[in-house]
Amino acid sequence: MEYLNQVLLHEKTRIGADLEAWQAYTGSEGLENALKNVDSIITIIKEAGLRGLGGSGFPTYRKWEAIATQKNVKEKYLICNGNEDEPGTFKDSILLEETPHQLIEGAMITALATGVNRIIFYTNPDLSDAITAMKIAIKQWEESELYFKVSDYIKQPLTFSILPTSGHYIGGEETAAIETVEGKFPFPRRKPPFPARYGVHGYPTLINNIETLCNISHILKNGVKWYQDLGIGSALGTKIYSLSGDILNPGVYELPMGISLSDLINEYGGGMLVDKKFKAVFTGGPSNTILTAKDLDVSLDFDSVAERRSSLGTGAMIVISEGTGIVKRVAEYVNFFAHSSCGQCPSCKTGTYYIAMLLNKIDTGQGRCSDLDALINLCEILPNSGRCALINGAVKVLESSLYHFMPEYEQSLNG
Ligand code: SF4
Repeated sequence: MEYLNQVLLHEKTRIGADLEAWQAYTGSEGLENALKNVDSIITIIKEAGLRGLGGSGFPTYRKWEAIATQKNVKEKYLICNGNEDEPGTFKDSILLEETPHQLIEGAMITALATGVNRIIFYTNPDLSDAITAMKIAIKQWEESELYFKVSDYIKQPLTFSILPTSGHYIGGEETAAIETVEGKFPFPRRKPPFPARYGVHGYPTLINNIETLCNISHILKNGVKWYQDLGIGSALGTKIYSLSGDILNPGVYELPMGISLSDLINEYGGGMLVDKKFKAVFTGGPSNTILTAKDLDVSLDFDSVAERRSSLGTGAMIVISEGTGIVKRVAEYVNFFAHSSCGQCPSCKTGTYYIAMLLNKIDTGQGRCSDLDALINLCEILPNSGRCALINGAVKVLESSLYHFMPEYEQSLNG
């Protein structure tokens, strides 16, 4: 079966920053089709069922509609979000470097559908090869006939720019990304107003993850049914996983929505390392909940994973084996969030540090029952107490570890 991004994930068809090669492979038919019937683009994306693949799972067309319906606005921005700093997530660098044209064509179709005229590719500054590929690819598009057709349609020149993130995890949050574009520290903003109404410099701003945008040209080229049929059952399309941990074949895998967690780990990940036994998987990255052996049958799609109190998140899957101390691992992740907190919200600034301190205490054999009680209480007090989702992520992984591995916590206590 040919998946959307096989073009970039299959060794023989990796294209890089070569527009001729990309157009020989795709004919840019997605963009050509979009130009022929601009008014139907959002409907096609809606009917295909494309959802935000960077973690939200929010229907893509709804974000687009909120931008498209705003007429007579001087500027509209699209931030192509490639801020990727969460432990265990490493798909965006491949998307940017191996098929930048896939992303740019998707962004141009998005511009047609929504009237966006300023496109910003927002990516980690240390990805020098990816940034170089994007620069070359942008230049190639800017000299192409299709670029001028899109600019003509939106009645102003389409501009592309590459903006390095500030290197902070929190910079991937939508409003923090807007602050970065405005040249400020990535402090998440209070919402409302939402970016669609008041984004970069007060203009309507659409923020889509780059994995989401990489789907667009393929859907416009091949049609709604083709996209839907890539999934399994009621799960539509594909998802890219960053698979890591105690498995034989860690890597980036694009797979149909609806494969089981067991197949992901065993069929594609090659199973556990020799002499290692499966213990759990941090599903969707460390800011999420843990799945255990009884969840190996879960279908990896938005709704089925949500039924297990978890989420696909960024698609990061960190597999751990028996012998990995859960308290130590969760302490490491919460420590990451404590260091990533922007400090605007007292509950997040102090709460994440306090959780990390208590976890370290328990992990080093100095914890007492009262420390465990404090952790349990924090799981009730802290959720939704911050301006953004960072505090919720830190609590989710803690709460989930307590739920699944309470005996391990209790055995680590010292009175
Ligand atoms: Fe900053 Fe944390 Fe508040 Fe988010 S929840 S705005 S990271 S302090």
